[in-house]
Amino acid sequence: MKEGVAGKVIYRKNYLAYPWDIKQLNLHIAVGVETTTVRAQMDFNLKSGFDSPQSIVLHGGDLQLLSITLNDRRLSEADYVIEGETLTIADAPATSVLKTEVQIHPSKNFALEGLYLSGEFLLTQCEAQGFRKITWFPDRPDVMTTYRVTLEADQLAFPVLLSNGNEVGRGELPGGRHWVRWDDPFPKPSYLFALVAGDLALVEDRFTTRSGREVSLRIYVEEENLDRCEHAMESLINAMRWDEKRFNLEYDLNIYHIVATNDFNMGAMENKSLNIFNSKYVLARPDTATDADYQGIEGVIGHEYFHNWTGNRVTCQDWFQLTLKEGLTVFRDEEFSADMQSRAVKRIRVIRDLRSRQYPEDDGPMSHPIRPDQYSEINNFYTATIYQKGATIIRMYHTLLGEDGFQKGMKLYFERHDGQAVTCDDFLAAMADANDVNLDRFGRWYSQSGTPQVKVTDNYDSETGTYTLKLEQHTAPTHDQQDKHSLVLPFALGLLSEDGKELPLQLETEASATVGTRLLIIEKAQQEFIFINLPEKPVPSLFRDFSAPVKVQYEYTQQQLATLIAHDSDPFVRWDAAQQMAQTAILEQCANHRQDREMSLDVSLLRAFEGVLSDREADPALLAEALVLPDEDYLAEQMDVVDVDGIHAARNYIKSRLANELQELFSERYSDLNDAQAYRKSAADMARRSLKNICLSYLMETDVGESLASDQLGSSDNMTDTLAAIRGLVLMDSGLAETALSDFEIKWKDDALVMDKWFIMQAIKPGRETVVLVRKLMDHPAFSIQNPNKVRALIGVFSMLNPTGFHADNGSGYEFHADRVIELDALNPQIAARMASAFNRWKRYDEGRKALMKAQLQRIASAENLSGDVTEIISNALK
Ligand SMILES: [Zn+2]
Repeated sequence: MKEGVAGKVIYRKNYLAYPWDIKQLNLHIAVGVETTTVRAQMDFNLKSGFDSPQSIVLHGGDLQLLSITLNDRRLSEADYVIEGETLTIADAPATSVLKTEVQIHPSKNFALEGLYLSGEFLLTQCEAQGFRKITWFPDRPDVMTTYRVTLEADQLAFPVLLSNGNEVGRGELPGGRHWVRWDDPFPKPSYLFALVAGDLALVEDRFTTRSGREVSLRIYVEEENLDRCEHAMESLINAMRWDEKRFNLEYDLNIYHIVATNDFNMGAMENKSLNIFNSKYVLARPDTATDADYQGIEGVIGHEYFHNWTGNRVTCQDWFQLTLKEGLTVFRDEEFSADMQSRAVKRIRVIRDLRSRQYPEDDGPMSHPIRPDQYSEINNFYTATIYQKGATIIRMYHTLLGEDGFQKGMKLYFERHDGQAVTCDDFLAAMADANDVNLDRFGRWYSQSGTPQVKVTDNYDSETGTYTLKLEQHTAPTHDQQDKHSLVLPFALGLLSEDGKELPLQLETEASATVGTRLLIIEKAQQEFIFINLPEKPVPSLFRDFSAPVKVQYEYTQQQLATLIAHDSDPFVRWDAAQQMAQTAILEQCANHRQDREMSLDVSLLRAFEGVLSDREADPALLAEALVLPDEDYLAEQMDVVDVDGIHAARNYIKSRLANELQELFSERYSDLNDAQAYRKSAADMARRSLKNICLSYLMETDVGESLASDQLGSSDNMTDTLAAIRGLVLMDSGLAETALSDFEIKWKDDALVMDKWFIMQAIKPGRETVVLVRKLMDHPAFSIQNPNKVRALIGVFSMLNPTGFHADNGSGYEFHADRVIELDALNPQIAARMASAFNRWKRYDEGRKALMKAQLQRIASAENLSGDVTEIISNALK
């Protein structure tokens, strides 16, 4: 199950076009769990501009080749060369019909790439390079062709046989077998191929597109999950309608399938008309899924649907361009969620995620630009940088060009490139040409890694009423890149009076003032803006709506932060000011803790939180975001040498003090929101639950917490409230926690998705004893090392979201985790590599922990038969 040649680096600059057109790919697949036989026929035609003769190069991995014929001549081993994952036929005729027959073994495929078994059914995952594990084919995204797929199988075991496109025929065969044929009229790259075979139940609905096309929407799940598909279906219909309205894009086939599986390496996959989903992003019922799950489902259903245009109709020339489809589609799904729910809350969550996952990645051993120049294992580049930073860069186009300009660019992009495999440069050119602007300098965002720092200084001259704002941008060298340039930064700015009013903005070169947010552009390393006619020294409201993905340094006073928290018109700035204030307070107490000084609570923070809690006007979800203290990993990133225990102690101290000082307010708010109303799914109800459960998490620090949590658990009719209560009890180490967990286990032991939550609640418990518990839980019947969701829930959460457990100073967490990476690598290198990245920030810790982590990294590196995936992560980390 290994793949890739460890250490072999592929460079973007070496791209060569494929010399052949393939008119059609005909597949006949006789599906079986132990053995599946795949017959393929490909019609090769030499592209104009290429000299004849040319070689035909195909990719394959773990295939048992039964026969290969070229223009009806059976080839012998002397007629082709197999080297690693390529098969080369030299000097092929300009028109060549190639036929192959291979056998594969799905039940032995634990890597979950290619064709594999999930429960009782078979399914595929081909992105990025899984198709080569099904048949020999030029497995690269720029080779697009139409697919005709005939699936044949035992009728009883596999009544459902699905592939991409439209069903064009079916029939019975002797011996209880049957066949179904699928035709996909749209040329596609092999990574979008899919097949599903098994005994699955179906939920069906319909959608009529704006132009009148009737689309059948079908969600396939295992029988017992039929009552958990309603939200996914509703989200799909909303996504289809939204894409018509906002992007003018319609669905293009008569059928749209979603299949849910418990065994999946990723979130979901946008195969043309046959999306395959991790069941986590399909299945939901109020008693089994939290509000966050519901929102996640809506986002991921939308994301995969939106790929039909941004990814499938227009795809990537090569995998270096991955952000072309992912950054753009993440931007689209973020906008979808923002339009469906609260825009401000969605923005804050996106920004929190970018800062806590992408910023550290960009500052660590895996730093890379959104369009990388090299990789050795593409699976390692499905990163926060490609996706989340990529989306932020698409958002900057939107900020610079406005909604109309952006949509003009999208229109031109599809006019030019529908049906093609293109590059990020093509996207940029469409945006620039449609708006008649030059975006060449903006294009640097594609080639430069690292997070720019923007240092802001200001000066107010009270005599003249002049306010000078000076910005200096600097991007520090990263692991992959020494030299950095200035970038184009959209800079959205407001100025507030001390009492929180928006001040008029007038640059010295302007005749009159405007009120509200002003968009300025920064292009140089240093830039100065001079504002005039200001009656007082303003409080600057910087990078409103997070207009550029930068780290801003400005020495705010506590008073200025308080003004922003209470009054700024921009929800991001208000939230960010509260985060900064809390961060400063926690890091100060962390220093006190380290020097054995007494800790204390900053009074401005107390007043700010009091203000937030007393706000009865604002969206409760927004208030909930403001009350969430920066997490321990994010705080760790703000220190030169991470003080694991100090951060934990200081954050707990601040939380506990706030909770006890403001107990009355928290209690009041909690009981107002805990109104015994039956569960409803609406955004407003979700907002109320989020604020209620944040209040509960603070109240857990007071002497009323335990009984509140216990009552909430007893009366809860939904998973959000249930989990919040149990988690509260577990984190406070309540005597009630054990019963709560075991009741939960008894109720849900046969439910794979819900049991993930049970594992998470235990893996996240702080402290060095947790490793013992996690090790024990690996023997639980609901756990399986072969299942990625289980691995992520127990091992991933422990190593990535439990700093005091993973970083226990005796090294027990590290040792446990390294064992798991080695164990997983033999089964599923993709997941093993994800897990291995938990060590990426090792150089930022104290000498003791550094040495312990380094030793584990070296131990993994010296393991036998290490995959290319893990080798790349580990060797970068050790560099
Ligand atoms: Zn995607």
